[in-house]
Amino acid sequence: MTAHSGRHFLQIPGPTNVPDRILRAIAQPTIDHRGPEFAELTKDLLRRVQPVFGTDGPVVIYPSSGTGAWEAALVNTLSPGDRVLAFETGHFATLWREMAERLGLEVEFVAGDWRHGADPVALAERLAADTAHRIAAIMVVHNETSTGVTSRIPEIRAALDEAEHPALLLVDTISSLGSIDYRHREWGVDVTVGCSQKGLMLPPGLGFNAVSEKALAAARTARLPRSYLDWTPILDANAHGFYPYTPATNLLYGLREACLMLEEEGLASVFARHDRHAAATRAAVRGWGLEVLCADPREYSSSLTAVLVGGAHDADKVRRIILDRFDMSLGTGLGRLAGRVFRIGHLGDFNDLSLAGTLAGVQMGLELAGIAVDPGGLQDALEVLRGE
Ligand SMILES: *Cc1c(COP(=O)(O)O)cnc(C)c1O
Repeated sequence: MTAHSGRHFLQIPGPTNVPDRILRAIAQPTIDHRGPEFAELTKDLLRRVQPVFGTDGPVVIYPSSGTGAWEAALVNTLSPGDRVLAFETGHFATLWREMAERLGLEVEFVAGDWRHGADPVALAERLAADTAHRIAAIMVVHNETSTGVTSRIPEIRAALDEAEHPALLLVDTISSLGSIDYRHREWGVDVTVGCSQKGLMLPPGLGFNAVSEKALAAARTARLPRSYLDWTPILDANAHGFYPYTPATNLLYGLREACLMLEEEGLASVFARHDRHAAATRAAVRGWGLEVLCADPREYSSSLTAVLVGGAHDADKVRRIILDRFDMSLGTGLGRLAGRVFRIGHLGDFNDLSLAGTLAGVQMGLELAGIAVDPGGLQDALEVLRGE
């Protein structure tokens, strides 16, 4: 191991850099999770976390990674053999689909090219054909972290409404929550799945389900086996400020601090900051003469950018060089994108100069890997950051 001075640049699209404020909040003594101080913490937290999801309804918090919250969304609302419709937006959508199949659901998977989001037109066609209303739920990954493509959830909702189809809408916002505009209630989402280690700037270890009235009603008749992830005992205990089992107390301290930070900056400003950083990153990529993986400008992700290295170049070699030389971690190409792309995370606790440093490191890494890039790319990004 080489020693490195200064801070490591953790520019993968999650886990993200954890701000000092949050680290300090977590480093408090663990308290009795059945005592009055904990009840105050929970009640305060459950209120503060709602606006982050754009809801005034319940948010269930699990001591889990995002994958646990995926499972919770399915097992609380569905029954064995139920048909669900999912979109092949990329690696994470594929993993969620596989989970649904393992749980005994019948998944209709709308094929995709990993460069586009969930297609509202394809959804409208499937819904129109489903006159018997056999489809029980639609599963969509809002921000596909393997590709840097953000699906247009309001258009997905509109397709459901126009078809007057009763299917539940389940949305994974794991890498968009707290980074990209998202509105659980306004967009008519039934279960929003989130987790701690991406836009919420926390270490891994918390999973979330924001739940609609309709999803709560579905939970009353859903028959997939569930115990640890069952919403009901958690919501019952939450009403008194508690959890049915030992919660991740110290991560909850961190979550409170994260909510305060998002409140202070204002969610609209947080989203605008991510949009700007994403625009600057794309300016760099184009300036270098490389291609952004996302093919539709309406679907550019503001939390990460996947970059195609092109030709016979190995994206993982670029990542290795950047890690060795500049102590920066970038996201690898996942699934069928392995070796072809690297991903720049620009979400969470991040500012103009951290992005400038990130892009400078990427540019030097590309050059050291022998990929002919135009060094004007960095300048193009700086112009976006500088503004007029
Ligand atoms: C990170 C991620 C997941 C998986 O979350 P884990 O915390 O690794 O279980 C699922 N979906 C998306 C979109 C993600 O970015």
